[in-house]
Amino acid sequence: MNITQIRNDFPIFTHNPELIFLDNASTTQKPQAVIDTLREYYENYNSNIHRGIYRIAEEATAAYESTRNKTASFIHAEDSRSIVFTRGTTESINLVAYSWGGKNLKAGDEILITEMEHHSNIIPWQLLCERSGAALKYIPITKDGKLDLSEPDKYFTDKTKLVCVIHQSNVFGTVNPVEEIVRLAHNCDAKVLVDGAQIAPHHAVDVTRLDCDFFAFSGHKMLGPTGVGALYAKPELLEEMDPFLGGGEMIRTVSMESSTWNDIPWKFEAGTPNIAQVIGLGAAIDYLSELGMENVSAIEKELHDYARVKLAEISGLKIYGDREDKGAVISFNVGNVHSHDLAHILDTFGIAIRAGHHCAQPIMQKLGVPATNRASFYLYNTKEEIDRLTEGIMKAVEMFEG
Ligand code: PMP
Repeated sequence: MNITQIRNDFPIFTHNPELIFLDNASTTQKPQAVIDTLREYYENYNSNIHRGIYRIAEEATAAYESTRNKTASFIHAEDSRSIVFTRGTTESINLVAYSWGGKNLKAGDEILITEMEHHSNIIPWQLLCERSGAALKYIPITKDGKLDLSEPDKYFTDKTKLVCVIHQSNVFGTVNPVEEIVRLAHNCDAKVLVDGAQIAPHHAVDVTRLDCDFFAFSGHKMLGPTGVGALYAKPELLEEMDPFLGGGEMIRTVSMESSTWNDIPWKFEAGTPNIAQVIGLGAAIDYLSELGMENVSAIEKELHDYARVKLAEISGLKIYGDREDKGAVISFNVGNVHSHDLAHILDTFGIAIRAGHHCAQPIMQKLGVPATNRASFYLYNTKEEIDRLTEGIMKAVEMFEG
């Protein structure tokens, strides 16, 4: 892969020649093809979808629906009706909590999640437990950033109705054994929701092989625009679920007394959707597919291997959940330097990393730290940038330790 050529596709690096962007787990930069797609929609065929009987409305509808097909292929869903467009992972998870959870959970039932979850895969379940009387259980994590699945019978029981698990951790980069979790869950007749926010941008996903019931992800973390993501759900589940938001487009008939619902997936897409963003997501999927997800993973693996070697040269630097075989996300602390101070100093060198709890406060509690630094890599990062990060951290430590 020619990284220089890839970088040239991202105008932000031309506009910010000093920028070293290592906060890709938070959001990613956009290739020109995605930016052009948004602009072309607004300039050439801006109109609402699914309702206009004129040329540009039909063009917009076709572009929007073609992204549904692309999204289904991208995650290997067999039926494009299983793809619901949402604002992102957070909304996808909330949709399941309201529409599936509201109908299927009651007092005495259990929702099983893990101590590794992002807040967006915790809070909707806490709220659902409050509404339904169900209880929330956690699969613990080990100090080295893995799920502790040594005693599955303790967690997967006949009370378990739903299991929600992060596929790749946004803090450690750990890739969880989702297939095993799906098998354990299905053995006790529970459904499984996979938080795919951090896996979909970086590795090939096959929801059919995983056999998960729900899979949520965000466009902005995989080169697409903000404001768009998707929920994959098995079509038979979508059929039986109640609507999430009510309004235009999600109905078939409306009378003053009652209404009936549109077919899936439109039953879950009330109102005017984020048309431009969905079409832009299609361009991001095209870009990634052209590169090949196996190549994207290979670029990241090389960067991750290199970063582990380089960061190990810094005395006093501790990586949380360090291991070779995981995603290209490195959480660390160094000496007594507070993560916010380090991130601030690195910013003065043009290096953007994340500092804080990464929306995963239970992990911080488990690690016994208030915060970590996090460097996360993507297909446009280079080894030179990792050298600059290493030098930057060394300089920051020097400044602190005098
Ligand atoms: N889950 C994980 C693992 C994430 O990393 C994120 C974003 N940081 C989310 C969920 C939420 O995604 P969004 O903000 O795009 O809804």
